[in-house]
Amino acid sequence: MLDGWTLCPRCGNQLTHSGDVVGCAACGFFLYAHSAVTASALPEDDRGWVLLARRSHEPFRGLWDLVGGFLAEGEHPVDGLLREVREETGVELEPGRLLGIWMGDYGGRSTLNLIWLGRLQDGELQAADDVAELRWFGPDELPASEELAFDGLVSEILRAWRDEHA
Ligand SMILES: [Zn+2]
Repeated sequence: MLDGWTLCPRCGNQLTHSGDVVGCAACGFFLYAHSAVTASALPEDDRGWVLLARRSHEPFRGLWDLVGGFLAEGEHPVDGLLREVREETGVELEPGRLLGIWMGDYGGRSTLNLIWLGRLQDGELQAADDVAELRWFGPDELPASEELAFDGLVSEILRAWRDEHA
């Protein structure tokens, strides 16, 4: 994430690179390269189907993704999970257990992705924020891998989800 950084974002002086950290001798700013953290859900209904969200923005616009998104600074992952599901569906999530943790890439940034199972509370689903459409999929009727976002990552997560239902 620090490739190409030359000037301090705080004071504008020259930055020094050392391994995976940049530092500014003038003002003391420093930053370690790190993965961005996301929290996402695989909400299930009574049939055991899973809710997916079609992306309305780049990257991977038009492809199916999980409901979720990036955590804010200092935000607890479960709070971020609830917030993202609320923003994108208009409905509250009752989180289940953590399905797993996957590494990924978002436009060149490394991501650390936390994926929860869960149930949605009653309410009318309304695609919002950066979601174009919400749809329930049965374990044997998941979108083809070329219709899934993030170059195989969503595909891999859904495979892990489906394996638990086999
Ligand atoms: Zn500086």
